[in-house]
Amino acid sequence: MFSFSFKNRIAFNYIVSGAILIAIVFLFIYYIVNYSVNKHVNEEIQEELLKHLDDVYIDSNDTYLIQVDQWRAREHHTISINPVFVEFYDTNKELIDKSPNLKSSNLKLYDDRFDVFIDTKLNNIPIRQIQTTIINKGKVVGYLLVAMSLEDFEIVLILKNILLITFPLILIVLFLIARFFAGRSILPVKTIIETSSKITKDNLKTRIPLPFNKDELYVLSQNINNLLNRVENAIEREKQFTSDASHELRTPLAVIKGTMEVLIRKSRNQQEYEEKIAFCISEVDRLNHIVDQLLLLARFENQNQNIKKETIFLNAIILDNLTRFSSKIEDKKIKVITHFESDFYLISDNYLVSIIISNLISNAVKYSNSQSEILISLTTTSNKVMLSLTDHGIGISSTDIDKIFNSFYRSDVSTHIEIKGNGLGLSIVKRLCDLLKIEIHIQSELEKGTNFILSFSSENLK
Ligand code: ADP
Repeated sequence: MFSFSFKNRIAFNYIVSGAILIAIVFLFIYYIVNYSVNKHVNEEIQEELLKHLDDVYIDSNDTYLIQVDQWRAREHHTISINPVFVEFYDTNKELIDKSPNLKSSNLKLYDDRFDVFIDTKLNNIPIRQIQTTIINKGKVVGYLLVAMSLEDFEIVLILKNILLITFPLILIVLFLIARFFAGRSILPVKTIIETSSKITKDNLKTRIPLPFNKDELYVLSQNINNLLNRVENAIEREKQFTSDASHELRTPLAVIKGTMEVLIRKSRNQQEYEEKIAFCISEVDRLNHIVDQLLLLARFENQNQNIKKETIFLNAIILDNLTRFSSKIEDKKIKVITHFESDFYLISDNYLVSIIISNLISNAVKYSNSQSEILISLTTTSNKVMLSLTDHGIGISSTDIDKIFNSFYRSDVSTHIEIKGNGLGLSIVKRLCDLLKIEIHIQSELEKGTNFILSFSSENLK
């Protein structure tokens, strides 16, 4: 199918409006010239008619005569550029006299068409004629015919032809000019097409050069570049995730394999077997936990269909999770202080909110110093419910704070002091918060403690 290039389409749209404008101007010129020539011819004929009526002389018998001598003499002296034809008729419509320029031809006397302009032909030459009755004392005594050739109209005809020929010519020239400029102004689009066709999965580094003018194409190029940045980052993160995941899964497997290999090299006593097998079980548990968390992450990747909208009792979820971690809390002699402003019933997914809170409490307990305090409060502002969880633990440095939501990221401090973990907990928290439209804020200071705030917006409120 024939398709118009973008450049031609712009040029075409441009000349359509140009054509309308030029046509209006041309028609205007044509009508003005036509009108003034028409008016001029009519005035001239009218003037001639009045002049020749003066040449009529009425005698005492009420018959009219033409002052032929006077008429002829005047005709002789006046130089008329446009020939005027004159004829006089009597009441019987018999020709009395006519202007010599008519020679052997005659004008035609039309019945009942007096005092109006009649466009007709004389020897195939277009003429305009007017005829009037010669009246004396209320009685018709004869007829006067005045006609003029319409040669003046030739200029109107010429003008019409010029306009008709120049119209398409101007449009063609306009189209070519518009096409040239349209081509120049969409040059950046060509660059975008060329550059983007070079970008493949393996070559994500190329970026579209930004055009000089800061116009829509500049914004488009910038947006495409930003999109490419995001795609590149996402692919990079995906690669990182896969390599981190396989590393995290391989480590316990390698440990288990190594332990088993050492164990079977020679026979051991019962206690040794028990110890090594218990160690392997704990590693298998770790593996299990990682796999569970990875499945959780995968299950909620941009998926809304698994989310329930039900009434949840936030206070109870917090208390339930504190009970789950009670033995660890007791071991570290941590004091948990809860301050719930009232009972908070919200609309959300009970299971997922419980996972978020469980991860945050687990971290607070894990990273708290022993004998410190954990403070959990539920408050409400105008249209939000805030859950605040503060611990007095190892804290997070300002350089780490932006990264802790990344999968498998663990701060140096937590690795250093050998607190077990895999860096997946907070990335699950972040993903679930995004899905449930819960805002999450974090404030932390190294060696002082950390404060997480979850704010449930109006759409979570009952
Ligand atoms: P994990 O705890 O298994 O390492 P998370 O994703 O839950 O993984 O946390 C990521 C990192 O964020 C942790 O390694 C730790 O460095 C830091 N972090 C999370 N919560 C706290 C907290 N309450 N206090 C101090 N550091 C924290």
